Amino acid sequence: MARKKAGSKAPPAGRAKRTGRKAAGAAKPSAGKAPTEGKGKLLDVDGAIAMLRTTRPTFYRWLRTGKIKGMKVGRQWRFYQADIERFLKGQEPQVELRTDIGPLVKALAGRLKAAGGSDPTGPGDSPVQRATGLMIALAARMRASDIHLEPYESAACLRVRVDGVLHPIADLDLRLLPALVEQFKRMANCDVLERRLPQDGRILVSLKQAGGEPAKLDLRVNFLPALMGEAVTLRILRRDEALVSLDRIDYAPADRQRLGRALGNPWGLLVFSGPTGSGKTTVLYACLRHLIRPSVKVMSIEDPVEYMIPGVVQAAVNEKMGMTFARAIRAFLRSDPDVMMVGEIRNRETLEICHQAALTGHLVMTTLHTDGAPETLKRMLDIGVPPFLVADAVKFVSAQRLVRCLCQSCAAPVEPSGEALARAEELARKGGVDWEALPKTFRKPVGCEKCGQVGYRGRKLIVEMLEMTPEISGALRRGAAVDDLRAIAIGQGMTPMPVDGIRRAAAGQTTLDEVFRVLSLK
Ligand SMILES: [Zn+2]
Repeated sequence: MARKKAGSKAPPAGRAKRTGRKAAGAAKPSAGKAPTEGKGKLLDVDGAIAMLRTTRPTFYRWLRTGKIKGMKVGRQWRFYQADIERFLKGQEPQVELRTDIGPLVKALAGRLKAAGGSDPTGPGDSPVQRATGLMIALAARMRASDIHLEPYESAACLRVRVDGVLHPIADLDLRLLPALVEQFKRMANCDVLERRLPQDGRILVSLKQAGGEPAKLDLRVNFLPALMGEAVTLRILRRDEALVSLDRIDYAPADRQRLGRALGNPWGLLVFSGPTGSGKTTVLYACLRHLIRPSVKVMSIEDPVEYMIPGVVQAAVNEKMGMTFARAIRAFLRSDPDVMMVGEIRNRETLEICHQAALTGHLVMTTLHTDGAPETLKRMLDIGVPPFLVADAVKFVSAQRLVRCLCQSCAAPVEPSGEALARAEELARKGGVDWEALPKTFRKPVGCEKCGQVGYRGRKLIVEMLEMTPEISGALRRGAAVDDLRAIAIGQGMTPMPVDGIRRAAAGQTTLDEVFRVLSLK
């Protein structure tokens, strides 16, 4: 009560005169249709600050993070007394909707129920809070890695990515988008008033689950001003899935041995290649954790640090402050580590320092964006590292992709088309594998409740691993072409990625279509 009284007190006379006149003039447009509309009187900034008994900077921070709702009348901020009262009661602001959000909430709740999830929202939540809460719960239930809310010309589109593939969830009225974006910004502690620049934030939610511990979700959010409004992308980080041990990754036995030998090197450069979203970080983290022991010092530089790993000194890139990959590695070298992980190589400087670190007795692990293992070696030469340096420093190169696994509950036997089989046979033969000797228990996706009618559930790595041998090293120094490097590696036992995939399809773990899709072989 005392607070309200303070708020209703007239501001000091001088200020009242100055702001009062502007308020009267600016408030005119809405004056026609009763400016109060049951929300109490309109306050200016000073009035609102007085009512809240706070400082001006704090007040503006609350305004920016969407804790207080205001509106711009001309160039002046105005606040409904009722909105300020909501804040004082600890309630979130009421978001004005320009059309009915009811159908969207209902559709999301229906989808969540059909997927076997339980509604995490309560009767106390506003419809907008319900909509955003349901989106997150549905994505989590579908095991999605990210949520995409994108404005297009006629509607906004809500999609989730499951096992690397986007699935449309709903089309919604564009007029609902600003309220949803504002709600996500508030959850992510972002600036609700900034709509013209990209913003990043983090949301930690704990989802109520029927008959169990609440699930804790860590979401990274990005807001991007697009032509038709702001686009929102929420990435769901899953610590338990990202931090698997090496033995939980289903490598073919020969590949697991190759990787084991690579990690057993006391020094050298190990390069893991693959496009974004091919599970490189998961593999790097698993390798790092495999090497952690009290007698070994492990350091990593990442952009950003996604997961904390006990036993590793982790540093984050900060380009603005001049903390680059290259600078971090130089600092690492003065800290006497045994093992270093360099999140990503973006330029020649970083790549060369990695080579030098490897040659001076450190085991260095890093990633590159390339198509295959031999291509990675070639790429390093293209970036400008001398062949002898690559040949001496690099011990191991791998390339990887993720293929979707068939749902174990609904996959059915199938005989692939003659065309697909011929293709697979040719690839197997090129990869040095006896096609006739492969077991052929091909299966196809069907779709059931467990996999959300997709037919696939979960993903597996397909890999190719190249070890630096005297023959490959010699070929590199001679300037051999990628095809020659590949042929030598296959001759020395490397299973090419397509063959690893075909083997898995033939064993009924995935399909030939999926392998061809992932490797763009169609
Ligand atoms: Zn299924």
